[in-house]
Amino acid sequence: MENIFDYNLDEIKELLTPSFRAKQIWHWLYAKYENDFNMMINIPKDMRIKLNTKFNAKNLEIKDIQVSSDGTKKYLFETFDNQTFESVLIKMRDKQNDDKGNIISSEKYTICVSSQIGCKIGCRFCRTAEDGFKRNLSAGEIVEQVVAIKKDNNILPQKRVNIVYMGMGEPLDNFDNLIKAIKIISHIDGLSISTRRQTISTSGISPMINALGELNIGVGLAISLHAVNNETRNKLMPINKTYNIESIIESVRNFPIDARKRVMFEYLMIKNINDDLKNAKDLLKLINGINVKINIILFNPYENSKFQRPDIETAKKFVDFLISKGQLATIRESKGIDIDAACGQLKYKKEKLKHKNSFT
Ligand code: SF4
Repeated sequence: MENIFDYNLDEIKELLTPSFRAKQIWHWLYAKYENDFNMMINIPKDMRIKLNTKFNAKNLEIKDIQVSSDGTKKYLFETFDNQTFESVLIKMRDKQNDDKGNIISSEKYTICVSSQIGCKIGCRFCRTAEDGFKRNLSAGEIVEQVVAIKKDNNILPQKRVNIVYMGMGEPLDNFDNLIKAIKIISHIDGLSISTRRQTISTSGISPMINALGELNIGVGLAISLHAVNNETRNKLMPINKTYNIESIIESVRNFPIDARKRVMFEYLMIKNINDDLKNAKDLLKLINGINVKINIILFNPYENSKFQRPDIETAKKFVDFLISKGQLATIRESKGIDIDAACGQLKYKKEKLKHKNSFT
């Protein structure tokens, strides 16, 4: 059986006559979040039977949901081949009412999507890396995360959400499936989430940043920089030995970015590794002339992790220094810290639990 979410609209049109049925099916999938072809009542019965024999409209199963006190929800999905991975729904802003109780602005959501099961990049601070790489997610498996999370939270189809490809895996290491998924997610007849609302976060595979830039599809770019010199970055992210800081900065300088937008530089701050003011000064030199926003993330230690969380005062000094020099910078709130919403951590906990249970 094939995953219907792997197909773009033109590919479904090629399979069905008359082809307008393809749009109706997409409407069921992406606007009504319907996973059962039998319920698509405006589709003729013989076509529904045909669809049932060829396709699955439910390929991911939600195995677990953890809800944080700040509203962040972490999903553990299981695939057809019994692999598990995670996605996170982050509530960026609550609904806001005026004095009379009228809604003045609605909730704002970001969905953090995975692109691979496991990861080949091997960052030293990452729980996912410790389990190695299993496989790429298909385009459909990437798309279905968004559909399943919107459905589970009754998020109306017309409600715009932001997507960040920042979950498990390196998105640019699964380039073709990622690009296909982005195009399906942004299609006007589907989820219709503009590419401007989609951001790809990469560990810095510079040739693939160049390839993405050449496509010029309007997505945002976030770079997991985490260190300002190759010596430290080699230690934190071995991929830096292949694509060093200079090559990443060069790719970012050439990346076509909307004049209103900035490239995001993620900086995972780790105690005594990259948290002093010398690093802040070198960071400014590195990004000189690029329209950048710096997001400082305080390392969130997991069981047996080798690194420590920096003090908040140290992080504030770092960020204040950047701001004093005119650089846009923030300390990113660790949304969902009480549910370990850093990639790989929920999956790890579940597996440990499974392991424990097998001995009882
Ligand atoms: S931090 Fe991201 S790129 Fe690095 S190993 Fe983990 S999942 Fe892969």
